Amino acid sequence: MRIPDLATLHRFAVALVLGGNRAQQLAYFAEVCRPVMVLQMLSIIAYGLSWLMMPEPYHPNLAHAVLALLGMLASLLMRYRCTGLLALNITGVCAVLTLTFGLRTMTDAVGTASFWVLPLGVFLTLVIASIFNGGLSYLVVVVGVWWIVGRDLCPVNAGSPDQSWAPLMIAASVLFGLALNGSASLLRLRKYQSRLELTRLAYLDSLTGLNNRRMFTQCAQQMHGASDGAMLHFLMIDIDDFKVINDQQGHDVGDEVLVRTAAIIADKAQGHLCGRLGGEEFGVIYTGSGEAVRVFAGALVEAVGQAFHATQFVSISVGVTELDRSKELAHSYRLADEALYLAKRQGKNRYVIV
Ligand code: GH3
Ligand code: MG
Ligand code: MG
Repeated sequence: MRIPDLATLHRFAVALVLGGNRAQQLAYFAEVCRPVMVLQMLSIIAYGLSWLMMPEPYHPNLAHAVLALLGMLASLLMRYRCTGLLALNITGVCAVLTLTFGLRTMTDAVGTASFWVLPLGVFLTLVIASIFNGGLSYLVVVVGVWWIVGRDLCPVNAGSPDQSWAPLMIAASVLFGLALNGSASLLRLRKYQSRLELTRLAYLDSLTGLNNRRMFTQCAQQMHGASDGAMLHFLMIDIDDFKVINDQQGHDVGDEVLVRTAAIIADKAQGHLCGRLGGEEFGVIYTGSGEAVRVFAGALVEAVGQAFHATQFVSISVGVTELDRSKELAHSYRLADEALYLAKRQGKNRYVIV
């Protein structure tokens, strides 16, 4: 079995205690916002109805019942208005505690409060276990719930022959709730990480780690449409005689050449947009003047030749064109491709500007 490293253990611990880092928690709150609001509304309606339909001669303490209802409404309003993490956590805690307080007020009214301590406490402890994100806020709520349902009634079942049953039940429900809460937090962590990985795979090239064609084109479109007026150049870069490298040295060596060439491009093009367009073709959107892009393209051709010269001969050809904002991006793609074709025709291992 593989022993998890420190970073993984730390991620697990943060997920178990807090429900994940800030981004994870916000993602979770955004996901459950609507269903939780519906739950809160339903609990307010259910509470209001049970209050209205309470038969004679039972009358809940009016101040307590109103306080509970106001607390539930305030929690709902806060959930609707707040976006901060702390506020969202507090809203959840308040919603459950005010509902518990309302239910306790009802059980007091019918005079059977001590009977309801265990059913109510266990039910609430288990029901909220998978909703609360992270063990810390869950434990705070659970302590609050048991304090509210058991206040002035503890020890429950005092004097009866099976009085040890109550603390056992409480401890078991809390432990079971914690286990449920922990497994829900870990499932959410896994789901969050899978989503991140999927997003990464959707926009990055898995071999070289550069932007893939989709991401590159999206960003290039944005830069092309931007009105800041900066001078942009499109460079289309292609590894020369790559098929020969593949055929003579195998695909693994070919892949390695791709990875190293991509690293050189990424290193040289820092601050500019770059990506793998497909196969052994790369693209760069260079922000700068015609003179600057000449220097850049020349340095790129030189750097690739130098990087491999000890083991084999690898070179690139580069087609360069200025991005014309008055025309579609595809027009500049075409021109850069033509420039690249010229570079190949003129003997490769060079750049051509059109
Ligand atoms: P030119 O100098 O004219 O560009 O010729 P070339 O051989 O570089 O170009 P050609 O288009 O004939 O061959 C490109 C080869 O790149 C063909 C394809 O099998 C190979 N290729 C595409 N993607 C990959 C990849 O991810 N890994 C490897 N190893 N090879 C790839
Ligand atoms: Mg090619
Ligand atoms: Mg090629």
